[in-house]
Amino acid sequence: MAMECGIALPGLQGGAGHMMFGGVEVQCVRVRAGRTVAMAMQKLKRVQVQRADRMVHDLRMASATPLPLLRQVADALVEEMCAGLEREGGSEQLKMLPSYVENLPSGNEKGLFYAVDLGGTNFRVLRVSLGGKKGEVLSQEYKEVAIPRELMTGTGKDLFDFIADTLAKFVDTEDTSLEPNPDKTREAGFAFSFPVRQTSVKSGIVIHWTKGFKIDDAVGKDIVKQFQDAIGRSGHNVEISALVNDTVGTLAGGRYNFQEETMIGCILGTGTNACYVERADAVKKWKDPLPKSGEMVINLEWGNFRSPWLPRTFADEEVDNESVNPGDQWFEKMVSGMYLGEIVRHMLLKLAEEAALFGDTVPGKLRERHSLGTPCVSEMHADTSAELQVVAAVLHQNLGIQSTSLEQRRIVRDLCDMVGQRGGRLAAAGVYGLLKKIGRAGPHKNGFAMSRKKKKTVVAMDGGLYEHHLPYRKYMEEALHELVGRNGAYEVFLRLQNDGSGIGAALLAASHSRHTKP
Ligand code: ADP
Ligand code: MG
Repeated sequence: MAMECGIALPGLQGGAGHMMFGGVEVQCVRVRAGRTVAMAMQKLKRVQVQRADRMVHDLRMASATPLPLLRQVADALVEEMCAGLEREGGSEQLKMLPSYVENLPSGNEKGLFYAVDLGGTNFRVLRVSLGGKKGEVLSQEYKEVAIPRELMTGTGKDLFDFIADTLAKFVDTEDTSLEPNPDKTREAGFAFSFPVRQTSVKSGIVIHWTKGFKIDDAVGKDIVKQFQDAIGRSGHNVEISALVNDTVGTLAGGRYNFQEETMIGCILGTGTNACYVERADAVKKWKDPLPKSGEMVINLEWGNFRSPWLPRTFADEEVDNESVNPGDQWFEKMVSGMYLGEIVRHMLLKLAEEAALFGDTVPGKLRERHSLGTPCVSEMHADTSAELQVVAAVLHQNLGIQSTSLEQRRIVRDLCDMVGQRGGRLAAAGVYGLLKKIGRAGPHKNGFAMSRKKKKTVVAMDGGLYEHHLPYRKYMEEALHELVGRNGAYEVFLRLQNDGSGIGAALLAASHSRHTKP
């Protein structure tokens, strides 16, 4: 769902008002005095803007993501990935969780399936009717609801009762022409976008929460059992036949649509994460017999990646300190939708305090957490109007800052650009790390690729940030192509897999259904 910043464009502030004066003399004196004050104000503003410009320049240096740095970030990620595949529980940073998904959808799945997709902001229920022929979707419906804030930090029972009730109401709207399984049990895939240690394809233990969720009593317990119990309390008969991380759902959806070249699933929404198809024998910590396919989908939980190469600023530290999980999820906090608005807000606050960017008083709203959402930042970033009217409107309507000059607005847009550019390029470095890990990022052996036909690799993308923040997406794509280079043996495509996590969960429910013959 596109989140709106919620601004209306009334035109710019500060039109010229006309006043009548009694005598010519008085008028001249007043005009002269007014001019002097205006000139002094302008000079002051110029000094403030210059000071702000210097601070912005320093921030840009601190957030810079030149290609060599991105390569270091990717290499550090690969190193952590290898460490995480060795050890049960993963490395200190990357959990590298085996998904128990050995077979991705083939396109031949058939029947009516549901999915439940619990993200960081939104919660979706879906119903999809699969035709059984190559990639055929007969019908598809969904409903999306925002997760009430109080449920994010309440009890597991309250959260799952809410989800189960929403699912139950959605099941009740099922068209009678759709045919559930012969025994009338509906099957659903559960896309869950928090770290889980899976114990089978349909069970898993919550390790901890991220993205502002904190439901302590649900940690360490089987998430499917908690959900299944709540469905039971709702009086409905829905069986969860696959528990999948949302990245794994996105990858599965990508396979269904874009075929076998899809090797990576990546989410850029409220949070960020990625998964990929690994050689099963490379998963050293896997103790069970190796899957017949020889492959295993691994969920990195890359939001928790950290490295001295990550170009952090004071604003990242502030955001981290104010979060419910200080010290964790560094990569996520620099890259994903939950945090970009907050990073820009902290930068603006500093500019307001130390360079008086908005005058002598610091606008109160700038001190309010979450007063500037990422959708607003993306709208300001995408503002290419000569007068930066969108920036003016956001500053006015969201932060209560009126009558800004073009110079001030330019500085604000610069900050949005800086933070969006850094986020998009770091996300690209992450994807490049995965490509390196699976050997799809190097040059041809002889170093001359130009004359040969390149192989294709698809990265299935999902998430509101990637979908709607177009400048961010462009930065990510450009950086990835810079990293992969023109001499590589592979061509890489980022493909938006709309609602991928939910549909993919339904597809995986289908491929793991009790009613599907192996
Ligand atoms: P979830 O992460 O809950 O699964 P989504 O994938 O829909 O949900 O992502 C929602 C997030 O995407 C929001 O929290 C916001 O950060 C980001 N987002 C949504 N719309 C926009 C937009 N227009 N511009 C920038 N970011 C957006
Ligand atoms: Mg999601």
